[in-house]
Amino acid sequence: MLRNVSLKPYVTLRAGGSAERFVTARDRDELAMHALIAQAEGWPISVLGWGSNMLPSDDGVPGIVIRNLARTFQDDGAGSVWVETGFGYQDLFLKTVQLGYRGLEFAVGIPGSIGGALVSNAGAYRSNISEFVRELDVVWNDKREVVGADWMGFKYRDSVLRTGEVTNAVVLAIRMELPRGPRKAAYDEAREYQRQRISKQPPSPSAGSFFKNVTDLSLANTLEDLPGPLKEKGIIPAGFLIERAGLKGFRIGGAAVGKRHANFILNINGATATEIRLVAEHVKHAIRSKYGVLLEEEVLFAGDWSRFNVN
Ligand SMILES: Cc1cc2nc3c(=O)[nH]c(=O)nc-3n(C[C@H](O)[C@H](O)[C@H](O)COP(=O)(O)OP(=O)(O)OC[C@H]3O[C@@H](n4cnc5c(N)ncnc54)[C@H](O)[C@@H]3O)c2cc1C
Repeated sequence: MLRNVSLKPYVTLRAGGSAERFVTARDRDELAMHALIAQAEGWPISVLGWGSNMLPSDDGVPGIVIRNLARTFQDDGAGSVWVETGFGYQDLFLKTVQLGYRGLEFAVGIPGSIGGALVSNAGAYRSNISEFVRELDVVWNDKREVVGADWMGFKYRDSVLRTGEVTNAVVLAIRMELPRGPRKAAYDEAREYQRQRISKQPPSPSAGSFFKNVTDLSLANTLEDLPGPLKEKGIIPAGFLIERAGLKGFRIGGAAVGKRHANFILNINGATATEIRLVAEHVKHAIRSKYGVLLEEEVLFAGDWSRFNVN
């Protein structure tokens, strides 16, 4: 176990402080062992997947950070796979397509692990990981058990592991069921999604979309330039509101709102985690004043943010 390890190189935003304790787990049994020890010691646990949805505080992350390199994959040949949570989300697409499965085309371009994808029910193009999850091997409440997918309480970019209903739990592996389908169609669909992403995503360090999209039918009806299908469903992309509020390019220190995609907060020049969060708070405040809605972060804040007074 290491002490005071900087998390900056491990998160895609390239910002933030150090982990009080840091260990690496190379398979699900090691991950379970570290989780059980941490729970017995009463240490807060942060699992580090690919760090693409996480902002560690400049003041550090108390407890233990477990870097998850558990990446085993097993196919039963009958539509069901078990995969460890350190496996890459887009690598899982490639692996399953090679075996004749379909369904995960949307995951191409999401730079995270299965564990991180579960916590935020990550997805794109109207599909999410929750559609395919059937069982989870978890360490929770000082014991290891296999639970059904309902345990996760999946919602849009949400689960019980985000809401605080379940704390300090670690997901070791999951069983997924996937439909079968032709390889070529899967690659073609994935290639098209990737093309769309490249045109929208900025190259600077980010954590992808910073805020969740808003669902508000009455607000949607007041937004004349919102595309018809979104207006009908009352779905308003957070980036649409941020751009309309004139915040593209808004900057504090090395952190800025993306010019290409307004829902990306970028580390354009050695930003601190505090600068990134200050930009996020400014955006939230501006959108609340202009539209009366409170944007909710998709990115998760890790560690001690108590010095940072959020109004
Ligand atoms: C350029 C870019 C594009 C993106 N596009 C999308 C997109 O289209 N759709 C989308 O949904 N997201 C997107 N994201 C966000 C991110 O990639 C996903 O949320 C991803 O699934 C997070 O996985 P991770 O391994 O990086 O999670 P991390 O950032 O490592 O962790 C995220 C959270 O999950 C917890 N966690 C991780 N593993 C476990 C585990 N095994 N058990 C318990 N808790 C765990 C962590 O402690 C942390 O709280 C994008 C990010 C970037 C940088």
